[in-house]
Amino acid sequence: MSDLKQDLARLKTAFDEAITEAMSSSAVEQLKVQFLGKKGEMTSILRGMGALSAEERPAAGQLANQVREHIEAKLESALTALKEKEKDLRLKHEKIDVTMPGVRQFQGARHPLTKVIDEICGIFLGLGFTIAEGPEVELDEYNFELLRIPEGHPARDTQDTFYITDKMVLRTQTSPVQIRVMKEQQPPIKIVCPGKVYRSDALDATHSPIFHQIEGLVVDKGVTMGDLVGSLQLFARQLFGEKTQIRLRPHHFPFTEPSCEVDITCWNCGGSGCRTCKGEGWIEVLGAGMVHPGVLRNCGIDPEVYSGFAFGIGVERTAMGRYGIDDIRNFYENDLRFLRQFR
Ligand SMILES: [Zn+2]
Repeated sequence: MSDLKQDLARLKTAFDEAITEAMSSSAVEQLKVQFLGKKGEMTSILRGMGALSAEERPAAGQLANQVREHIEAKLESALTALKEKEKDLRLKHEKIDVTMPGVRQFQGARHPLTKVIDEICGIFLGLGFTIAEGPEVELDEYNFELLRIPEGHPARDTQDTFYITDKMVLRTQTSPVQIRVMKEQQPPIKIVCPGKVYRSDALDATHSPIFHQIEGLVVDKGVTMGDLVGSLQLFARQLFGEKTQIRLRPHHFPFTEPSCEVDITCWNCGGSGCRTCKGEGWIEVLGAGMVHPGVLRNCGIDPEVYSGFAFGIGVERTAMGRYGIDDIRNFYENDLRFLRQFR
């Protein structure tokens, strides 16, 4: 009995010392396990109860209970006090000083190519066009054949085009979107098709294997070359300024007849000649023409009833001219020093 009494007294003293040194609620939780847990010190002392006589047991049990209650009460009050203290400390840390100057966040901005695409599409939306999109992996049939670019045509050379299979390519132009729309829908059609296109070109200052185009297509009854010229004139003035003039030069494309290349008066010198326009006064911006009757027929549209015009604009070239960028690679390298200039 006296052994057990001593053990309990030692336990109480050890606990009282330990609890005064516990500085956090987690330390108090640990003491609870150490002293009162299933494998704790109290349990191992109480195991000794079995050796006591029946007369000794009640007094020993009472003493053990007193010590246990003492420990439990102290644990409880220490835990409450420490938790309160910890909460105060946390609140103090989390307090925000609203008078402190803010941290400036870098705001993202649209990529210069996206800006030019949005601007060009915006102009045509204003003219009543809608936007049409299509897949970048395209059927050879839609990218070439139905656009009157037959097998053996130099544009289909593996040197110029990425082939996925014999019948499938990475589209070299956004024209197959026009094919898709014309095959699905009878006129009137009035669309612009923005998107990525692919050519098997080596990357240099003016060439990239991936670039962006915006093509436009109008098909309806009685559409003439005059409508094409009027639309492009309006577009050029909105994009490059009110005084901009356009000039058409005869050209050849397989999918339009007649075809032309379109120049605008230089945005830098206004036509008198400077370095930007290499002294010409004019800058080539797009290709256009009247949709070839064969293309209409290929898509199930009767060329005796309907006619149309189409045009294609290179986005990179337009953006380079617009912002005075001399190397196409700047658009794709994700250099923040370059991109931040367009915020
Ligand atoms: Zn010029």
